[in-house]
Amino acid sequence: MALALQTFSTVGDANAALKATGTRYLGGGTLVVRAANEGDISVSGLVRSTDPSLSAIEIDNGKARIGASVTMAAIARHPELGAIAKAARAVGGPAIRNMATVGGNLFAPAPYGDFAVALLALGATVDTDDGEMPIEDFLAGRDGSRAIVTSVRFELPKAENFRFLKVSRVKPKGVSVLSIAAALEQAGDSTVSSVRIALGCMADRPMRARGAEKALIGSTLNQDGIAAALAAAGEGTSPITDPIASAWYRAEVLPVHLGRLLLG
Ligand SMILES: Cc1cc2nc3c(=O)[nH]c(=O)nc-3n(C[C@H](O)[C@H](O)[C@H](O)COP(=O)(O)OP(=O)(O)OC[C@H]3O[C@@H](n4cnc5c(N)ncnc54)[C@H](O)[C@@H]3O)c2cc1C
Repeated sequence: MALALQTFSTVGDANAALKATGTRYLGGGTLVVRAANEGDISVSGLVRSTDPSLSAIEIDNGKARIGASVTMAAIARHPELGAIAKAARAVGGPAIRNMATVGGNLFAPAPYGDFAVALLALGATVDTDDGEMPIEDFLAGRDGSRAIVTSVRFELPKAENFRFLKVSRVKPKGVSVLSIAAALEQAGDSTVSSVRIALGCMADRPMRARGAEKALIGSTLNQDGIAAALAAAGEGTSPITDPIASAWYRAEVLPVHLGRLLLG
């Protein structure tokens, strides 16, 4: 069946077109077009918007706004986004990164969504045509969402305060066994004063490691100091099983890789 593609210059018009049954928004198309090509008959038409703000990256006073149509390649090469470039480079190979958008990554089911893991650790805000919401709320409600994501916003971390790790079996572009992002700050005595840790593949979508976060506050980042956080890392997780790894394996290796991230 042929797919109809409708292009609109404004997000508002695209949103209105998305009300028709069977329509899906088109970001870079790496997932939605693949699904249609593979026979997903729920997709009968694609809608996209060429609104320039969707493709803009704005950095102002330590705050970043990234339009939903910005690709992973554009983030990876942006001179002021060096602190999060590693997370963008973790998405697929060069061809995928040239198409894969921020907006699409927010909807990507595990084992995908590596960049969304980074955004969750950064406490990003997700903007839609309907308003804004914290990324946690967005991720929790994304399945029923019909609103077009227009941008994400977050405070740019200092490079030393943001860590990202993707574990994969096939280098350099295999999908994730798991991914971990941590945004943390240390006080003058080197103890952890604030931390947000996000996990990929530990549920069907990115999730916070709240038990580990709680255990880390006031701790020093050494083997003894992180022990309680590693013990709590799996709390509330429900890892996926796929051809890359079983849920059991993912749960077993999570503390190992979280330890490496925190000590590295
Ligand atoms: C070979 C291959 C390797 C991959 N490797 C990785 C990887 O390592 N890591 C990873 O994270 N992902 C990976 N992916 C998945 C995917 O490429 C990325 O997650 C990408 O960011 C998805 O973005 P997209 O723009 O292509 O999404 P699309 O395919 O365009 O859309 C995906 C879904 O999101 C919705 N959507 C997209 N943009 C918006 C928006 N602005 N507002 C509302 N809804 C929207 C679409 O309607 C659709 O339901 C891979 C995919 C392939 C095919």
